Amino acid sequence: MTVTEALKGKTILIGRENSPLSRLFISADSKAMALNLSVPKNVSRCLPAEGKAHCKIEISHNGELKITNLKDENRTYVNGNEIISKIIKPTDTVELGESRFAINIQQILNAATKLVTVAPPQPDGYSIKHLENVWNDFENKNIELQKRAKHLNLLRSVPIAFTMIGGVISAIVDEDIRKYTIIITCIAVVILLYGLYKAATDKSIEERQEATKKFQDNYVCPKCRHFLGNQPYNIVRQNKNCPYCKVRFI
Ligand SMILES: [Zn+2]
Repeated sequence: MTVTEALKGKTILIGRENSPLSRLFISADSKAMALNLSVPKNVSRCLPAEGKAHCKIEISHNGELKITNLKDENRTYVNGNEIISKIIKPTDTVELGESRFAINIQQILNAATKLVTVAPPQPDGYSIKHLENVWNDFENKNIELQKRAKHLNLLRSVPIAFTMIGGVISAIVDEDIRKYTIIITCIAVVILLYGLYKAATDKSIEERQEATKKFQDNYVCPKCRHFLGNQPYNIVRQNKNCPYCKVRFI
């Protein structure tokens, strides 16, 4: 793995941290972080709010990396040669500033991936509104499966009823009419076969398994991703907090 999907189409600004710590500082997607590496003064500062940095790496939609030196006074080297702009590989040697501070491109890509994939902080808590639909979908599916099971049972009992009716008729009527009970038996056999066919082709078990898995994957706390159990949405709603990580639900 070199360039992650999350980085495609993004730009990473790279420079020195604007603080006495002077660490390597990167920014992507309006978020920024310092890497625990001390950077010499001849590397330009990274000021994301002003769009300023020593250099930037643009990641194209097909994963190509293009590094660009951002100021004439800056020095950026790729594999020993000074560049203004160049397509690079994560394994290329990139150095910044006159003292040629080497940066590890793969390390920067990994850190930037974390930056762009981390969910923005939500000081007021996490919304769980979407869980109402997740619960309703699961419940509707269960009702549908129960109805189908009921129909199948009904279908099973019809041939038994027909057979019993046939038996009663043959017991109480005379010879001429008795031969018609064969028709009733035939109908009973057809319904019996239809019921067997329906039962054999029924996918209720698989559908229930799939619906349960989907439910367990999605009916989770938006922060800690812990499954919230088979409790209806309005009960989860009443809890106010995640029972596992205690984050507030809004
Ligand atoms: Zn939680």
